[in-house]
Amino acid sequence: MTNESNPLLIRGELPLFDAISPDHVGPAMEALLATQLAALEDLEASLGADEALSWETLVEPLERIGDALSATWGSVGHLMGVKNGEELRAAFEATQPEVVTFGLRVAQSRPIFEALARLAAGRHWEALDAAQQRIVSSLLRDARHSGVGLDGPDRERFNEIAGELAEVSVQFSNNVLDATRAYALTLEDPADVEGLPESWRAGAAQAAAEAGAESATAERGPWRVTLDLPSYQPFMEHSPQRTLREKLYRAYVTRASDGEHDNGPLITRILQLRAEQARLLGFASYAELSIDVKMAPDIDRALGLLYELRTASLEAARADLEDLRVFADERNAAEANDIALWDVPFWSERLREHRYAYSEEELRPYFPFPVVLDGLFALAERLFGVHIAPADGEAPIWHEDVRFFRVTDTADEPVAAFYLDPYTRPAEKRGGAWMDECVGRSRSLAPAGQSLRLPVAHLVCNQTRPIGDAPALMSFNEVLTLFHEFGHGLQHMLTRVDYGLAAGIRNIEWDAVELPSQFMENWCYERDVLTTISAHVETGQPLPDPLYEKLTRARTYRAGSDMLRQILFGLTDLMLHDGSDRGESPHQTQRSVAEETLVLQPLAEDRMLCSFGHIFAGGYAAGYYSYKWAEVLSADAFAAFEEEGLGDQAKEREVGARYRDTVLALGGSRDPMDVYVAFRGREPSTDALLRHAGLQSLS
Ligand code: ZN
Repeated sequence: MTNESNPLLIRGELPLFDAISPDHVGPAMEALLATQLAALEDLEASLGADEALSWETLVEPLERIGDALSATWGSVGHLMGVKNGEELRAAFEATQPEVVTFGLRVAQSRPIFEALARLAAGRHWEALDAAQQRIVSSLLRDARHSGVGLDGPDRERFNEIAGELAEVSVQFSNNVLDATRAYALTLEDPADVEGLPESWRAGAAQAAAEAGAESATAERGPWRVTLDLPSYQPFMEHSPQRTLREKLYRAYVTRASDGEHDNGPLITRILQLRAEQARLLGFASYAELSIDVKMAPDIDRALGLLYELRTASLEAARADLEDLRVFADERNAAEANDIALWDVPFWSERLREHRYAYSEEELRPYFPFPVVLDGLFALAERLFGVHIAPADGEAPIWHEDVRFFRVTDTADEPVAAFYLDPYTRPAEKRGGAWMDECVGRSRSLAPAGQSLRLPVAHLVCNQTRPIGDAPALMSFNEVLTLFHEFGHGLQHMLTRVDYGLAAGIRNIEWDAVELPSQFMENWCYERDVLTTISAHVETGQPLPDPLYEKLTRARTYRAGSDMLRQILFGLTDLMLHDGSDRGESPHQTQRSVAEETLVLQPLAEDRMLCSFGHIFAGGYAAGYYSYKWAEVLSADAFAAFEEEGLGDQAKEREVGARYRDTVLALGGSRDPMDVYVAFRGREPSTDALLRHAGLQSLS
């Protein structure tokens, strides 16, 4: 294999996902790091004279270096998420230290840092536009946070920490995947799957067949239950077998907490390393360092929001639990006086069915995946004037499930493209759902003969697989998730910023990033939207009015309890990173937060932190509160449509255009509060979020 034939080094419009294999990773990265190091050294050597210093001679070359790296290494990272396996992991782990070292070499370059500082202080500064100035300021800040100011042993130690942190968070994520994969319950007695929906039985039989029980059928079993959410959650909601629920629940909340996949020691190590890293940079704690790059002005403001929402939710959550007790008691359930954690999903579903007279499963046949997708695209067209068309076959893909789409504007000009990898594949794909950039918009990186490079997004979900030849039927939650990720995708794809370093989601403060995603979820409750995204798989009928009314009435069902669960994670995360020595384990910290935050206390052996990839293997460290912070923005943004005329198509287009021109277009080119105020005409308020959740505002 030569570099010329290595698919990871061939830069066309799109990565060659169908040709990349684990043995390409090492050679590709070795060659790439060598050429980029040479480019970096050339750049550093060229920075001597002040006259030569400009956007074009300094920032654009930096963008090129970062982009070359993220194109190749980003493809490897993407495959780690969607096509994970022993060989790829080994190749990734063998290469990652070099990548981290190179990243630090760039970030800690004194010549570049000093040149950026000179650019910011020099006579060329005023000639830069506001977006360029913000990019330079961010580059300076990021360099400081990457240790550019450190010398000698401090810098050495800082770099060691960065390397170890990168390694440990990959291990953390692998452990969660492995622990999830290692656990399964095979049920053979039809009594054990009593109450479970038909779709679940079919999926569980298919999983059993894949695991070796070839004769498994939906009717006769055996059925395989796993800790993968599409398998686990329906079981917890529908199985009347309390003992089995308890067994699964205990397995779920102790995932990756012992044996060969134990994340416990990794958590301790990660927290130590982060604290040390922050100290080296002169911050009092890792939380201080994290908040320094957020929209929230300080930790107290982030905490203040969580406390406000907690106070507004506690009473409602207490009532939720009492409702379950009374309801179970009326049905003479033995557990009525002792509702346990594994009873909550089951009785919540029963009460939902009783109170709103529908079940989550009843909705599923109305949401065949192709119908939902068409409806979602129609909404994007209606609000933002973009057209989305399938382009399967035009892009190399990593799995036959994957779809490819192209986005055009009203003048039929291409705007962007995206991959959609919709279904769960527990054996090789990370759980959850995410949007990632594949290619970013950039003028300076435009392909030859074109004025602009257009963005390409990855949308990855883990929804229920289709069974046989029938279309996949989505739960309403899966519909919400798809809209959510699509919302992230819109911000990446509809950006109008031409500077690569601030286009799309780049350079946006992390706690503002969930604004466009959560915003999209609101549309799933609008009557006309639901009509376009639903068609019963047998009759073709859209979701009928009575079901719609139940669905919207049920929207606030258990909203207080759900809110508290997110607040528990948000508060625990901030406390674990706030630098206080509480003389207790992270699990104990979580338990003390739970005492103030939850109405039903977690088990003593609860180890949910061991599978909390968001903060230990993702970008949410001391930033999980961001979901709530951004939800305030997203609810308040949707309220603009409510105030100005939902259902009035002309009005919706008008507000939609304003939203597109600000939130979706401006990316990281301006301060997020300025972007928000440009859309809304004022700063955000928590009123809309509390109103949508049916909770009491305190003011
Ligand atoms: Zn999101």
